[in-house]
Amino acid sequence: MTISISGRANAADREDAMTGDAGTHVFLAQFCMETNTFSDLMTGDECFGEGTYIRSRASLTDPTGLGYNLRILRDLAEADGLVVSESVCAYPEPGGPIVRSSYEEIRDSILADLKLAGDVTMVLLVLHGAMVAEGYDDCEGDILCRVRKIAGPDVTIGIVLDPHCHLTNAMVENANLIIAMRQYPHTDFAERAKELYRLCKARADGVIRPVTAVFDCRMVGLYPTTIEPMAGYVRALEASEADDSVLSTSLIHGFPWGDTPDTGACVIVTTQADRSLAYRVAERLGHQFYAMRDALLPNMPAIAEAIHQAAELDGLTILADAADNSGGGAPGDRTDLLKAIMATGAPSAFGTIFDPEAVDACMEAGLEAQVKLRIGGKLGASSGEGLELDATVMGLDLCHSQTVFGFTSPLGASAWIRSGSTDIVLASIRSQVFGPDAFTGLGINLSNKRIVGVKSIEHFRAGFRQIADHIICVASDGALGMDFAQLRYVNKRDLQYHPRIRDPMALDTLAPLS
Ligand SMILES: [Zn+2]
Repeated sequence: MTISISGRANAADREDAMTGDAGTHVFLAQFCMETNTFSDLMTGDECFGEGTYIRSRASLTDPTGLGYNLRILRDLAEADGLVVSESVCAYPEPGGPIVRSSYEEIRDSILADLKLAGDVTMVLLVLHGAMVAEGYDDCEGDILCRVRKIAGPDVTIGIVLDPHCHLTNAMVENANLIIAMRQYPHTDFAERAKELYRLCKARADGVIRPVTAVFDCRMVGLYPTTIEPMAGYVRALEASEADDSVLSTSLIHGFPWGDTPDTGACVIVTTQADRSLAYRVAERLGHQFYAMRDALLPNMPAIAEAIHQAAELDGLTILADAADNSGGGAPGDRTDLLKAIMATGAPSAFGTIFDPEAVDACMEAGLEAQVKLRIGGKLGASSGEGLELDATVMGLDLCHSQTVFGFTSPLGASAWIRSGSTDIVLASIRSQVFGPDAFTGLGINLSNKRIVGVKSIEHFRAGFRQIADHIICVASDGALGMDFAQLRYVNKRDLQYHPRIRDPMALDTLAPLS
């Protein structure tokens, strides 16, 4: 059955509606940004450019790139014959707070599209959860309050979050379903999006009545799930849903480098109409997580120690430049680890250094040219010093890209240069390294390397663990300090958290969510 929504929908919505069923009308949008509030790099209109922002229907125009997440939700809705209205898709690289006008413009585009879409029964949003803009320390809460006001009290609102988020009362009060990805690296978006869709559809159809409880774990940290004890904890989350009354359980890891009132880890549990059960399960899972807190503290060697360890190992060792991971909002142009790797003289590769000017210089010089460059060290105080080197231009690509959990993410104009025995990737889009194709896509052979340095903390593992014999995460003086007890929080409400306090649960003061 088709419906006419002429007069209250934009052209894209009307086209979508031609194939839909009037029974349920789904509104989709994605607005994700992980904000490092300690970063000097403001996120303005320039950051919402090609590859990071599509005004509408990204799932149709860029289904294997930026629109990948929305395509998953659209495919599910269309398989059920539902009407789909799709608004903005935005996902800039993490950085400092968003400029107020840039944030408000994108938020208001989503709200305007929602008004135009008319009567919707479900609003499904892909949000990060750690977005901060000038004047807004809880962007997702702000968006959800406004969406709820427009949609009305009966519409089912569901969101899927990155676990590195700040869960707030405004989010919990205005969304019926909140589900965070469980895996870090975040390889399970599709699985969690399906869960969100299934539960939201069931609520919209009147089959379930979800209620939610949150348990504050009073912890700040970083919790990779590829290794124990977190791999086992993910299995415990899955097992907790064996009870039919428990609809969904998620661990919010929190984002340590976002200074907001609600920064920190918590467990969110949704049950079928049983708030007491939701709280009991959240409390049990929260205490189980809390009990692992000392084992979860990061153990990263400094650069010199990491180089020493790598020299003792056979095969290929990946050194992850954790503190300059642009995926956490760092500049991505520090050169201290690269310099130390080059000094070993071992066959090696390093990427990506964000340096558009150096890429331009390589483009000007051309393939096989000998160049003198100063790379990196440009963006801010945490960039450190640049590195001067003599190099050969080995490869150039005007539109380089890499694979990110099944979809393609741009690196922009990029250059492969060789200096000594090190192959280096320079990129003109700031991005952490996800897959080996950030190197091999330019022609670099990784199979003959002893050391490969990557700018990432954790997400690279999904793509590199097949080729790596060893992986070492390295601590440096970059923007993402790993001493979570020393982070200079001003806005975080509860400063009695682990690891700042050894056993904060033993204290009887518990700050409420904002
Ligand atoms: Zn994340």
